[in-house]
Amino acid sequence: SAPVGTDFIRNIVRDDLASGKHAHIKTRFPPEPNGYLHLGHTRAIMTDFGIAAEHGGECNLRFDDTNPAKEDPEYVQAIQDDIAWLGFQWHDLRHASDYFGVFHLAAIKLIQDGKAFVCDLSADEVRAYRGSLTEPGRPSPFRDRSIEENLDLFARMRAGEFPDGARTLRAKIDMASPNINMRDPAIFRIKHVEHQNTGNEWPIYPMYDYAHSLSDAIEGITHSLCTLEFEDHRPLYDWCVDNVALHDHPELLAPITEKGFPNEAAKPRQIEFSRLNLDYTVMSKRKLMALVQEGLVDGWDDPRMPTLQGIRRRGYSPQALRLFVSRLGLSKQNSTIDYTVLENTLREDMDVRAERRMAVIEPLRFVLTNLPDDHAELLNFHNHPKNAECGDRKVAFSNTVYIEREDFAEVPPKGWKRLVPDGEVRLRGAGIAKCTEVVKDADGNIVELRGTLDLESRPGMPGAERKVKGTLHWVDAKTAVPAEFRHYDRLFNVADPDDDSDGKTYRDHLNPESKHVLHGFVEAAAAQAAAETFYQFERIGYYVADRKDHRASAPVFNRSVTLRDTWMQ
Ligand code: ATP
Ligand code: MG
Ligand code: MG
Repeated sequence: SAPVGTDFIRNIVRDDLASGKHAHIKTRFPPEPNGYLHLGHTRAIMTDFGIAAEHGGECNLRFDDTNPAKEDPEYVQAIQDDIAWLGFQWHDLRHASDYFGVFHLAAIKLIQDGKAFVCDLSADEVRAYRGSLTEPGRPSPFRDRSIEENLDLFARMRAGEFPDGARTLRAKIDMASPNINMRDPAIFRIKHVEHQNTGNEWPIYPMYDYAHSLSDAIEGITHSLCTLEFEDHRPLYDWCVDNVALHDHPELLAPITEKGFPNEAAKPRQIEFSRLNLDYTVMSKRKLMALVQEGLVDGWDDPRMPTLQGIRRRGYSPQALRLFVSRLGLSKQNSTIDYTVLENTLREDMDVRAERRMAVIEPLRFVLTNLPDDHAELLNFHNHPKNAECGDRKVAFSNTVYIEREDFAEVPPKGWKRLVPDGEVRLRGAGIAKCTEVVKDADGNIVELRGTLDLESRPGMPGAERKVKGTLHWVDAKTAVPAEFRHYDRLFNVADPDDDSDGKTYRDHLNPESKHVLHGFVEAAAAQAAAETFYQFERIGYYVADRKDHRASAPVFNRSVTLRDTWMQ
C-alpha cells in the first residue's frame, strides 16, 4: 500500500482540485446503525474525515437507516461517541431517512420517464427471473405496464394498501447485463415496520443502492469512498445519480428544502478501497452481534472484541489506532493484517506515553528483618525512564514487600536471574535484598520469604551500583492496594475464524484462554488513577484502568498488551 498522503484516492482528489473539477471537497461516512463500529471502520472514518480535512473540506456523518427492522437509536449514539473518541468531527449529521420524501418523488419521476415499474413477482420469483453469472435474466411479466398503471400502483404502495413483499418498484435497466445488479434491481419495497426516525409514516422503504447514491447526490458529496464489495454496484450507483439527476431537478428536493436543508445537490463519484481485515478475529457486525447475544463475550465493549468500544476498553488509544491504520495505507488489494502488527503498534505507542508504575499480580510476602517493624519511607521514582516531562513520584517502602511468586525459585532452572534461597536481587529503587529463610505451611507451600536489605546499597549510598543478577519489581505490603487484573488474549485460537470449509464455524474456534481474572496489588499511586489511565506495570505489561469498573478503593486494570509478543500456536 502507498503511504498516507500518496495513495490512489488522495491522488484522485488532488487531481480533481488541480483540474478545477472541484473547488471544494465533500465526503461522508455512512454507517448503518445496526451495530457498533469496529476496527475496520477506522479505515473508512480516517479516509472519509481525513481527506476532507486535508483539503479544508467537509465530511458528513450520515446514518444509512433504510433497514428499520435492524436499526436502533442505541447504535446511533454509540457510533457518534466512537467517531468523536477517534478524534473526528462531522460537518452535518444526517440520516438517509431525512430524504425519504425525495426518494419517493424521484421514484415517481423515474416511473414518469418510463425507467421504473411496479412488479408483482414474489422475492423467490424475482430471484428465478434474475438469472446468474452464466445465464441472462428474463424480463418480469410486469415490465411493460403503462406509466399510468405504475403511477397508480406505486401510489397505492405508498398509501399502505398492500402487504409486505406483495410488490416492489424496480428500476428498468437491462435484464441481459453481465452485472446482475443492473438486472432491473428493486428500488422500493413494502415493509410495514416502524422506523426509529420516521415512525409509521412510510409503509415503503428504499433499497440500499438507490438510497445511498441519491443521499450522496443530495448532500453534494464529491467523492463517495467505500469498500471494494461495492465496486459491482457502481454502475447502479451511477445509473441512479444520472437518471434521477437531482442536480438538474431542484423540484425533487422540495421535501427537504421545506424542512430547511440547503440545496447542495451535485453529482458524486464513487471510489472503492480494500477493507481492513485482521487475523484471529471476526469483523462482521452480524458475527459480532451473535457473540454478544449468545453470551460468548461480556457485551459489545468486552475488551476482546474488535469493536471500537472493546478496543478502547482494552486500552488502545485513538493515537495508537490511527497510527496502525495510517501505516497500512489504502489500496485496492484485499489483505489480512497480522494481529501482532496491531499489538506492536500499541507497544510502540505505550512505550513512549505510558507512565511506569509497580504492581504485583501473584504476590509473595518478603519480610526484610533488618529493618524495624515501623520502618516507613518514601522513595523517589521517575515516572518514565526516557521522558523527564512525566515527572517523579513517591513510592512507599517498609520492612515488608510483595514480590511476584514467579520471581522466586527454590530450585532454579539453568540461567535463572531472579531470587533463590541465599541469593541476592535488587528491589527496584530500594536496594539489594538477600533471601535468608523460606517459610512454608503444613502442606509445604511457600507462604513467605524472609531476608535482609543491604543497607550499603540503598539509593544514594556508595554500594547502590553494586552488580547483582536480577532486578525485581515489588510493592510495599503495608500501603499497596488490592487490585483486580483482567488478562485478555486473542478471542480466537485460529488465524482465520471465518473459514468454515472444515464444517466448523467461528464459534468452534473461540480461545478458552482469552480471559483470566487475577488478584494482586498495585502501588497506591496507581490505585488513585482515573478510569482509562494507562500504565506500564514494570516487567509485566501495559495496563489500563477499566473504563467501567475501576475505583480507587477497588482498582481494576485490564491488560492491554504484554511487553513482548508471547502468543504461541
Ligand atoms: P459489516 O459488514 O461489518 O457489517 P458494513 O460494511 O455493513 O460492516 P457499514 O455500517 O455499512 O458497515 O459501513 C460504514 C462504512 O464503513 C462503509 O463505507 C463501509 O464500506 C466501511 N467499512 C465497513 N467495514 C470496513 C472494513 N473492514 N474496512 C474498511 N472499511 C469498512
Ligand atoms: Mg451494512
Ligand atoms: Mg456489510
